[in-house]
Amino acid sequence: MRSKAFKWIVLSAALLVAAIIIIQLFWLNRVYSFEQKNFNVNVVKSIRGLYEDVELRNSASLNLQTLIEHPQPDYFLFHVDAIPPADTLKLYLKQELEDFDVLTDAYISVYEPGKMQYTASYYLPAAASRYTQDPSIALTVFPRDHLYLLLYFPHRDKYVLSQMVFWFISSGALIIALTALAVSLFFFFRQKFLSQTQKEFLNNVTHEFKTPLAVLKIASGVLAEDDILQKPARLKNYITIVEQQTNHLQQQVERLLTSATTENNELKIQKTPVSLSVLVSRAIRKIQPLADDKKARIDIKTPEQETPVWIDESNMELALINLLENALKYSANPHIIVETGRDHQDSYISVKDNGIGIEKKYQQRIFKKFYRVPTGNIHNVKGFGLGLNFVKQAVVAHKGKIVVNSLPGIGTEFKIILPTD
Ligand code: ADP
Repeated sequence: MRSKAFKWIVLSAALLVAAIIIIQLFWLNRVYSFEQKNFNVNVVKSIRGLYEDVELRNSASLNLQTLIEHPQPDYFLFHVDAIPPADTLKLYLKQELEDFDVLTDAYISVYEPGKMQYTASYYLPAAASRYTQDPSIALTVFPRDHLYLLLYFPHRDKYVLSQMVFWFISSGALIIALTALAVSLFFFFRQKFLSQTQKEFLNNVTHEFKTPLAVLKIASGVLAEDDILQKPARLKNYITIVEQQTNHLQQQVERLLTSATTENNELKIQKTPVSLSVLVSRAIRKIQPLADDKKARIDIKTPEQETPVWIDESNMELALINLLENALKYSANPHIIVETGRDHQDSYISVKDNGIGIEKKYQQRIFKKFYRVPTGNIHNVKGFGLGLNFVKQAVVAHKGKIVVNSLPGIGTEFKIILPTD
């Protein structure tokens, strides 16, 4: 329940972050349109100023809407009746553009009707311009039947964008902050998960070692009784217990060391020809005490005639023991079917049980080191979460595959598939 609530919180936070980023992009776009509009308005104000400064029109009335055209974003043309001297034009225009904060380079050109090119063109660099005049520039000509002046801003886009620096910085900072937050959250929860896994692992290790040690302590106490030699049946019973517990401890220590010290893909294997049915019988013999304890029924299905398979015997036996132990551990009344055989070019060993099963969402994760299905502890089944990881490593070292088929409440089948050389 807690993890479900947590998932919802993470999902809502992610959606919120996505929404904030989309809104920010939307605002950037709005600001861009606004800055463009602002630029155009300032250019129009500069042109009006020029009309007022210099004699450009014969009549005094100024209807800017009919006088000024804006055929393309970078071009403005305005109707005039007379062309003032070049220096006057340049001086006043420069002044007007500066007054209205149009601080980017401009070209001013003169168009005379009937001509297909501009009769004069002047370059007006802005005060702190980073650019120089481009001699190869070809200004677009807009044919009209009257005299006009053309204003062209070659770096208009860059200038408008540069007006938005503050917005870019704040958006960048926002996105960086959100990303940093997401990354730290990811590491925080990964760390939390790791320390939780470590804690569970330590609990399980403690449990696995404490129980046999406690049993051994009691048994040695009994064996130290003065009259023990007079009770041979009791003596034998306790010696068997000591032997079983010592074997169990030894097995656990070996398993822990093998699994915990081998990194993935590091397992060294030595292949010899092995009969799978012999391998199965030997593995079952080793887990027999556990099987008896749980009153398990184990059926073996092996082909009558079989050819030996080249595998690493001890590693494959340990892998099989792990699967059998799991089948016993995770079944209340175990009925286990172990099957070996050949399928085209491959050999397989399958271990099927009628246990608690594994939900689909956990089926790939169970092969990870220390991973245990969360219900594992609730069912009070202890383990290190290393068994299946070892099985996987052994199978991968043989260039084979391990397949899991499982239905919660019905049972589980693990199938080791090994290529036959
Ligand atoms: P563990 O020591 O916990 O048994 P394993 O690596 O052997 O570690 O298995 C990982 C997890 O996979 C177990 O904790 C258990 O939840 C699940 N699992 C493994 N085998 C079975 C099975 N036969 N039936 C149900 N669940 C299983």
